[in-house]
Amino acid sequence: MSVDKGIFRRQKASTADTYDFHSGRPDATPWTSERRIDRYVPTHCCYCGVQCGMYLKVAGNEVIGVEPREDFPVNRGMLCPKGSTAYQTVTHPDRLTYPMMRRNGKGSPLERVSWDEALNAIATKFRAIQAEHGADAVAVYSGSSMTNEKCYLMGKFARVALGTRHTDYNGRLCMSSATGANEHALGIDRAANPISDIPLADCIFVIGSNVGECFPIVTSWLWRARDRGCKLIVADPRQTPIARTADVFLPLRPGTDSILLTSMLNVIINEGLLDERFIEQRTNGWEETRAAAEQYPPEVAAKVCGLKPEAIIQAARMYGRAHAALLFTARGLEHQSKGVENGLAAANLALATGNFGRPGAGYMTLTGQGNGQGGREMGQKASQLPGERDIERQEDREYICSVWGIDERDLPHSGYPATLMIPAMLRQEIRACFMICSNPMVSLPDQHTVEQALRGLDFFVVTDFFLSETAELADVVLPGNVWAEDEGTVTNLEGRVIKYNRATEPPGEARLDWEIVCDLAHRLGKGQYFNFHSPREIFDELRLCTKGATCDYWGITYEKIEAQNGVFWPCPTEDHPGTPRLYEERFGFPDGRARFNPITYLPPAEEPDEEYPLVLTTGRVIYHYLSGNQTRRTPFLLEQAPYPWIEIHEETAARLGIADGDWVTARTRRGEMTVPALVVRSIRPDTVFIPYHYGHTEAANILTNPVLEPMMKIPEYKVCAVAIAPATQPPDWADKVDPDLLAAARERRRELPSASAKPKPTLS
Ligand code: SF4
Repeated sequence: MSVDKGIFRRQKASTADTYDFHSGRPDATPWTSERRIDRYVPTHCCYCGVQCGMYLKVAGNEVIGVEPREDFPVNRGMLCPKGSTAYQTVTHPDRLTYPMMRRNGKGSPLERVSWDEALNAIATKFRAIQAEHGADAVAVYSGSSMTNEKCYLMGKFARVALGTRHTDYNGRLCMSSATGANEHALGIDRAANPISDIPLADCIFVIGSNVGECFPIVTSWLWRARDRGCKLIVADPRQTPIARTADVFLPLRPGTDSILLTSMLNVIINEGLLDERFIEQRTNGWEETRAAAEQYPPEVAAKVCGLKPEAIIQAARMYGRAHAALLFTARGLEHQSKGVENGLAAANLALATGNFGRPGAGYMTLTGQGNGQGGREMGQKASQLPGERDIERQEDREYICSVWGIDERDLPHSGYPATLMIPAMLRQEIRACFMICSNPMVSLPDQHTVEQALRGLDFFVVTDFFLSETAELADVVLPGNVWAEDEGTVTNLEGRVIKYNRATEPPGEARLDWEIVCDLAHRLGKGQYFNFHSPREIFDELRLCTKGATCDYWGITYEKIEAQNGVFWPCPTEDHPGTPRLYEERFGFPDGRARFNPITYLPPAEEPDEEYPLVLTTGRVIYHYLSGNQTRRTPFLLEQAPYPWIEIHEETAARLGIADGDWVTARTRRGEMTVPALVVRSIRPDTVFIPYHYGHTEAANILTNPVLEPMMKIPEYKVCAVAIAPATQPPDWADKVDPDLLAAARERRRELPSASAKPKPTLS
C-alpha cells in the first residue's frame, strides 16, 4: 500500500484479496485476507462529487472491501481515504435496523415499532396537521447525496403525495451560489468541462477551493497539468496543500473574492489581454461590466483583500496570457452572502478572456456532495420541477403535470428554500417535516436556533441509516439504505451521469428509501402516482420529465451509462453520445450568448470589530464528509481527525497567550465553543479556521452567521466576526480526548504532504 498525497493507489499483489484499504498503514494486516470474495460489484464512491469508480468486494451477502476501478477515467485506479473506507458504513454496528417512534409523544423515548405502525402514524399525523393548518404546514427536507431517482421521487412526493409547496434540500447549503451564477452568466448550471480538460490547460486558477482535501482525486489531474508546464494560481485565506505548490498564491481576506476577481479583470483590460472577438461575437453586457471593473484597480482591491497590488497584477497577467485557462471555484467562494456575485465575477473573468468552449478552457464549480449536480436538477428544490424546469412557468407546469397525470391546478407553487424553513418552523407556519439524507443539526448555521425550530415541530420524521444528531430529535425514525444496497444514477461534478449498482441487502428490517417513500405515498392515498417497482422505472419517468429541458436526460439509459462509462448531459436522443464540453458553439440562453454581470463589491455581512476582532472561516478536512454522520463512524477516518480544532496563526496565538494544544474558546454573536488550538503559519493572522464535521458542542455551526445570500439563500459559512481567548475550562467532551490521538492528528494536520518540490511560501 502506498500513501501518496492523500491518495491510496491500488497495488499489484499476488491475490486480489490481500489489498488493504482498511487502515491506510503500510504495515497493516490485510482485513480481508481470509475471506473468499464471491463478487466484485462495479459502482462509485458514495462521498464527494468526483464519484470515483470502485468495485465493492462481496462475500456472501456482506460487503467486506473495496478496490478502485482502473477503467473509470476519472480516478483510474485511485481512491482517497474516504473512498477507501466507505464500504465500512455498510455493515457498521450503528446501522438503524428497525423503525422507531416516540409512542407517548415528545419527551418519551424512541421505541422499536413495526413498519405498519410507523408509516400509518406518519400518514395519520401528516393528514391531521394538513387538515387543521393547510397542506403547506408539512415540509419535505431532502438531500443531495442520494441517487437522481430518489431526488426526483422526493420532489414528486412533496408536490403530489403531500400537496405541499415546501420542498427543498441540503444542496441549498452547498452549491446554490454556483447555480445562481451559472444560470445568470452562462444559462446552464453545470461545469463547462470534463475533467479530462484539466491537463490541457496552460493556467489553472483555483479560488475558494481546498482541492487537495475536498477533491483529492482532482488533485492528481492538476499534477498532470503541472507536469505539462501549466501555471497554477491559488486564492485562499489558508495556505492549503494545493496552495503550497502555486506559482502565485493570493492569501486573500475572507469575503473579498469578488473584488479580487474584478481587479484582475481591471488589469486584463488595461494590459490588452481581452479576447475582443469572443466578447463581441459571443457575449452581451460587456460595456457595463468593463465600466464597473474600472473602479477596482489593484491598488484599491489590494487594500480590501489584504494583498499586495503586485500579486494581483501577476495573477491577472498569468491568467490573461494563457492560451487556455481553467477556473475552479467551490464552497470558499460560494458560502458567502455575496456568493452569487463572486461566481459572476469569476464568470466575467473567463468570458472576457474567451476561456470557454475549447479544450482546457473553462469554468468549473466543484460540487461537494456525491450527487451535488444531479440533486439540483431533479425537481426537489423549492422553485424547481424535474429537469431544472421552473415551477412558476406555465409551460413547465403543464408538461410535468401531463407526465404525472395530475391537474395543473393541483400542482403547488414555489415554497421555502431549506434555510427559510427554519424561521417558518419557529413561526409554526411549518408544523411537521419529512426529512431524508440530511443532518441540519450539524450543517445549518446558528445551531441553537435550528435546534429550537426542530424541537418545536408538532411532528418530525427522519429517514436515515445512522441515528444522526438530527434523527435524535425526530418523533419517528425510519431505517433506510446506504448506497451499496440500491441501484440508481448520480451525476458527478463534470455532469457525467453514472450508475450505482446493488451489492447487498439492507440489514434487519431496514428498507430501500424509494420503497419507503412509495409505501408512504400509498398510505397518504396517492399510491396511483407512485406505482414504481424499481429504480429503473423511476429513472424512465424522470428521463421523460427532462425531455427537451436544459439538462436533458432523455437519451440516457442504464445500458448506455454502462457501455460509455457514464453519459454527459444534455443527451437528447438515444443515439446522441452526450455532451462532455459545454459552450463550444452556444451558451444556454435563447440567443446563444453569455451574459456579463457588472460587479460592485460589498463587504461580508459581519466584519471584525473591537468585540469580535478576528474572522472565522470554516471548511472540510480530507478525512471527513459533510456532517460526518458516516465518516465519524469510520475508525480510520475518525482516528485521523477525531475532534475539531481551531487553526490560529502563530503571531495571533502569541499575542493572545495561546500555545499549541491549549483549549481555546471561540465566541461569536450566535454562541461559543471550546476547541484545542492548532498554531500554524498557514493561515492569515486576522483569520481563524474550524472544521465543520462535528456535532453537538463540537459543531462549528454554533458560531456561524445565518445571514443569507439574497438570491439563492445560502448561508455565510465562510465569514463571520469572532473573538478567541484561552479557555477558562475545557469542553464537555474533553475527557473523551485521547491526548496521543489528538497530538498525532495535530501533527498530521500541520504536515499535510506537499506534492511538489517547489519552495513552500509562508504567510508570515
Ligand atoms: Fe473519490 Fe471523492 Fe470518494 Fe475520495 S471522496 S474516493 S475523491 S469520490
